[in-house]
Amino acid sequence: MSITEINHWINGAEDPGQGQRRTDVYNPATGEVTGSLHLADAQDLERAVTIAREAADSWSEVSMSKRMAVMFKFRELIHAHTQDLAKIITAEHGKVLSDAAGEVGRGLEVVEFACALPQTLKGEYSDQFSSGIDVYSFRQPLGVVAGITPFNFPAMVPLWMAPLAIATGNTFILKPSERDPSAALLLAKLFKEAGLPDGVFQVLHGDKETVDGLLRHELVDGISFVGSTPIAKYVYETGLAHGKRVQALGGAKNHAVVMPDADLDLAADHLSAAAFGSAGERCMAISVAVAVGDAADDLVAKLRQRAEDIKVGEGTQDDVEMGPLITPASQDRVKRLVTEAEQAGAAVVVDGRELVVEGREEGFFVGPTVLDKVKEQMSAYQEEIFGPVLAVVRVETLQDAIKLINANPYGNGTAIFTGSGNAARTFKRGVTVGMVGVNVPIPVPAAQHSFGGWKDSLFGDLHIYGPDGVKFYTRGKVITERWPHENDEVAASMNFPSH
Ligand code: NAD
Repeated sequence: MSITEINHWINGAEDPGQGQRRTDVYNPATGEVTGSLHLADAQDLERAVTIAREAADSWSEVSMSKRMAVMFKFRELIHAHTQDLAKIITAEHGKVLSDAAGEVGRGLEVVEFACALPQTLKGEYSDQFSSGIDVYSFRQPLGVVAGITPFNFPAMVPLWMAPLAIATGNTFILKPSERDPSAALLLAKLFKEAGLPDGVFQVLHGDKETVDGLLRHELVDGISFVGSTPIAKYVYETGLAHGKRVQALGGAKNHAVVMPDADLDLAADHLSAAAFGSAGERCMAISVAVAVGDAADDLVAKLRQRAEDIKVGEGTQDDVEMGPLITPASQDRVKRLVTEAEQAGAAVVVDGRELVVEGREEGFFVGPTVLDKVKEQMSAYQEEIFGPVLAVVRVETLQDAIKLINANPYGNGTAIFTGSGNAARTFKRGVTVGMVGVNVPIPVPAAQHSFGGWKDSLFGDLHIYGPDGVKFYTRGKVITERWPHENDEVAASMNFPSH
């Protein structure tokens, strides 16, 4: 099999850069190396940032209507190339094609939200606030913004960031995950085809060295980061120390509470889809089912059945529902955590550790796994497993469930399955989590709202995309204005001006 050379996208064209370091990109379903990725060095970074800075001067002056024309065209192009993007994602990430197309669709929603920017970005105006004086506000772009993104959504997460950053008049440098970098390049080509000037969207491949360079560069004004919690914290603190605006979204441990009055078939269907979809490699995957009271035995029986029925294999095949993990290291981590849970007394109801996919023996697969009677002190409960493992924790009451969730350091998403409006209300008001679903397992907010967790799932105050995204990529300015008539009395005063 031939190995593709994967380049940066600098100043509107593919570019191998000067950097001598490279890393391998794999097809996780076959275990084969498929790509050789150029990693940026300091010179490459300097060039990309300088180009982005120069482009920011002209792009920020382009009229809103011209910027929107590019966005509308970009929307059409993504729509037309959804399957192309999905194939690239499946080849490097491993998720099934329909799921890959789904992530492109969710990214597309943010592009559509960006197309509505003329409405969203309208300022505020206080006419005649004082005699002859009007006060109004508007927002301006930051300048150069960098986006650092994780492997698990190679198209959607960049699309959470770039469309709004660019629509608001910034230039954007994307540092995608080095594990599945190619979707970013197709996005770059589509931006160019949509009429975006060179240098406004660039892709710089790299690892910690490139991230550190972006965090420290004086010409980078803002950083959007999505990834694991330790790196999110590091990016937030380092970026802040270098005077940048930073939003850094971290990892998760998402609990779904199942009440005894829930429709248990509905809950089991949705929990297994939310736990095993994309092999559990979603920041909003449900990894803990909290069974309240009598719900537990029936729920576990139903989850066992669902998990055993899931077809695992290469994501390009029509009937496959779940693909491989991203790396052998992920495979090892997931198996280790299941083994540690078993040793600590959890029941392994469905065991995916030994799964082998026929004809794909070298792929990085782990089968759907259900653990029952998991306790808080077990490593499988404490760590983000980021694999196809659903841990069932049994509690007595809704209050116990809320207490458990609130004691967890993560606060990305959570859900409740219940037939009671009152239980749902208590739950959604009581949990210290940023995104809550009621009979909805993965409550990723629609694009007109913003996405973000609480606690260790987000560092910074503004959430990503939606109205918070627009605020993040812009700075507010307030104007107090007077145009006196010839005869108006506008006497100056030594006192602090009051209205
Ligand atoms: P990761 O933290 O390993 O990598 C994310 C990005 O940071 C990548 O671009 C990577 O190159 C870079 N990076 C890695 N190590 C670095 C270091 N030491 N210094 C500087 N940069 C570094 O995350 P991942 O494994 O790619 O993605 C999975 C994680 O992302 C999970 O924890 C998941 O929950 C989280 N995630 C969170 C959200 C969210 O919205 N909160 C969304 C998607 C993924």
